Amino acid sequence: MFKPGLPGIITQKEFNLGDFIMATMITEECINCGACEPECPNTAIYAGGAQYELNGKMFDALSNDLYYIVPEKCTECVGHFNQEQCAAVCPVDCCVPDPNRTETEDQLLEKAKKIHPEKPFAALSAENSRFRK
Ligand code: SF4
Ligand code: SF4
Repeated sequence: MFKPGLPGIITQKEFNLGDFIMATMITEECINCGACEPECPNTAIYAGGAQYELNGKMFDALSNDLYYIVPEKCTECVGHFNQEQCAAVCPVDCCVPDPNRTETEDQLLEKAKKIHPEKPFAALSAENSRFRK
């Protein structure tokens, strides 16, 4: 019998954990300025209505009206920067952590490594993790 929330079941889903976790999200206050999209080191941000790419496959937009973040690709910028780059440039402060779906620093770094298998990530520090500032 399926029991929602069992850690053993969830961790076996690996990269498809986006159904259960989320790092940063864009709220309905988004004014579609587009400033955040080019700043994301993981190409996790897409314009409303635009298909997104994940693991070499294309998927339908998560929002048809507003810019959105693909949770499987968002690392809260861990591994790259010590601040969420989308939040840093957003003029209306609508890039915010989802309090209901949090991830640990280790989980976010592992996600970054999967997204960028070619990149030699430096040890986490105050320079590349918001958790260590
Ligand atoms: Fe991209 Fe960083 Fe924003 Fe996540 S927090 S969507 S990784 S810019
Ligand atoms: Fe929307 Fe903010 Fe991104 Fe502009 S920077 S598109 S307002 S989330």
